[in-house]
Amino acid sequence: MLTIAVSKGRIYEDALPLLEEAGIVPIDDPKKSRKLILQTSREDVRLVIIRATDVPTFVEYGAADMGIAGKDVLLEHGAENLYEPLDLGIAGCRLMTAAPVGAPPISGRIRVATKYVKTAQSYFADLGIQAEIIKLYGSMELAPLVSLADCIVDLVDTGNTLKANGLEARDLITHITSRLVVNKASMKMKHRDIQPLLDQFEVTLQQRNNS
Ligand code: AMP
Repeated sequence: MLTIAVSKGRIYEDALPLLEEAGIVPIDDPKKSRKLILQTSREDVRLVIIRATDVPTFVEYGAADMGIAGKDVLLEHGAENLYEPLDLGIAGCRLMTAAPVGAPPISGRIRVATKYVKTAQSYFADLGIQAEIIKLYGSMELAPLVSLADCIVDLVDTGNTLKANGLEARDLITHITSRLVVNKASMKMKHRDIQPLLDQFEVTLQQRNNS
């Protein structure tokens, strides 16, 4: 049995066609079912649909053999115990700093609200900016509006969320896409099952790039 951990939400939606190309179609719809383990059209493959930040943990401990997670989550978590063989090119967005529209440029000693504590810390340290990082678990956009922070570090896709809250994107930290990660022991022990899946994903990605 192969267990694949997939981040809930947009990543799951974007991963479905890729999985389908590999013959993996979930039998239940996670939006309608409360099941945490989804059986699939392949008897030997099951999916666990979990919070994005939990995907590397499941894969690292071998609770899932493979996972699909955003690079943002992998950067923050650290991925030393995982293989990251494929950039799936899905759920693309940018990790950026953002501040209230018209606020002065980010400089001096600042407070930054984010859920990406380590990534933000190392980003501002590299720039020589003294940043106090305030960990939040969601609604980062609120922080500058109520003077909790001067700026935020968050994912930006269309920019609509920032705009709706009077914020603007400032500096690009890095481009983000979802990656396939594989547990190191599974890669060895279940190579015969995992390698064909990796090959199929690669073929699909090639076809997408060529079309
Ligand atoms: P947008 O308004 O389109 O710029 O989207 C920004 C909001 O969606 C923020 O709350 C982000 O945290 C979230 N978001 C955008 N892209 C992604 C992604 N690829 N994966 C997860 N969350 C995302």
